[in-house]
Amino acid sequence: MQTWASVDVPRLAGGGPPLRLHDTSSGRVRPTAPGSTALMYVCGITPYDATHLGHAATYLAFDLVNRVWRDLGHDVHYVQNVTDIDDPLLERAARDQDDWVVLGMRETALFREDMEALRVVPPRHYIGAVEAMGEITELVSKLLAAGAAYRVDDPEFPDVYFDSSVTGRFGYESNYDEPTMLRLAAERGGDPDRPGKRHPSDPLLWRMAREGEPSWDGSAGSGAGAGDLGPGRPGWHVECAAIALNRLGPQIDVNGGGSDLIYPHHECGAAHAEAFTGVHPFARHYTHSGMIGLDGEKMSKSRGNLVFVSKLRAEGVDPNAVRLALLAGHYRTDRPWTDALLADAQARLARWRDAVALGAGPDAADLVSRLRTHLADDLDTPAALAAVDGWAGEALERRGRDGRAPGLVRDAVDALLGVALRG
Ligand code: ZN
Repeated sequence: MQTWASVDVPRLAGGGPPLRLHDTSSGRVRPTAPGSTALMYVCGITPYDATHLGHAATYLAFDLVNRVWRDLGHDVHYVQNVTDIDDPLLERAARDQDDWVVLGMRETALFREDMEALRVVPPRHYIGAVEAMGEITELVSKLLAAGAAYRVDDPEFPDVYFDSSVTGRFGYESNYDEPTMLRLAAERGGDPDRPGKRHPSDPLLWRMAREGEPSWDGSAGSGAGAGDLGPGRPGWHVECAAIALNRLGPQIDVNGGGSDLIYPHHECGAAHAEAFTGVHPFARHYTHSGMIGLDGEKMSKSRGNLVFVSKLRAEGVDPNAVRLALLAGHYRTDRPWTDALLADAQARLARWRDAVALGAGPDAADLVSRLRTHLADDLDTPAALAAVDGWAGEALERRGRDGRAPGLVRDAVDALLGVALRG
């Protein structure tokens, strides 16, 4: 799939400490240790509605991971998918008497525009599930051939499920107990009560074709060991597993997404990958961003309390202010979106722009070092923003006579925080 336009990221002199990130599987903040090329997979949208601020907060958090790694000199191989075939997309299209393909294309196009406006560095590979169907069916049929998957005992619809017991580690990523797993699976598109499954937590890999639903040829996978699944469509988790494995290999540095993907999505995706490759762990870090709320509730499609990035843009809000508003809180905390948060971010953006427009300011080398240190500390953006506030306040009081400082601060804020201070 076509990705969005690239963003210029200024190169800064020097470097900072290694990036430490929270990892859900160990429950700790640990150093990332990528090779010369850092490997990151972040789960993309299901394009049945426009990008809301909860999505934006997630992609901004992983954009900072990308930027900090680049600043440390790593090449970053970043992959993101689009879940362009799934139940929610079909249900929304049916509700609105829309074509699901057209709906998905329309919302994906809007998402790209939003990401570009927010200055998110695009992934190297932006892959839709539909375009990856051959590799998905190949992975499912190989899991089936290896005994890691089975057909449910249902003569009408012998759907293929993953046997969650095969890796012997199911649950290591989320650390949830079984009742929690089953409750979340039921809430998030799973079917723990389906008769005939070996374990209630086993996720769907291939759903046999149903009347009135789109389906694909299950023999599309051509690799050795791939068999014919019969016409159908894939489960959600195996899409990401196939797309990630085929581009990033058996082990990646960061698997990211919102905290609502901890289970079942990332647990199951990791189990699929590990059952296929034998390499554990699939991701060295499973990193999750918090939820954005509105009026005391999580922002979600089901509650209908969404604030869309595109709507704010249409109202003339500077996307850099949206970016600053979302970075004002720590990425892992659930936090509310309020009018005051946006107003504060707009005032902060104006102050920073005034400060870097001055002919001189206080020496900025210390600020750059503090920005790097704060971001390396599990993306501590509140501290990073406060450090820039401190420099801007001194500059606006006409303290400091370093003529190069305003330009350096502008470049550092752009490179590390992704905020453009050119007016
Ligand atoms: Zn995913």
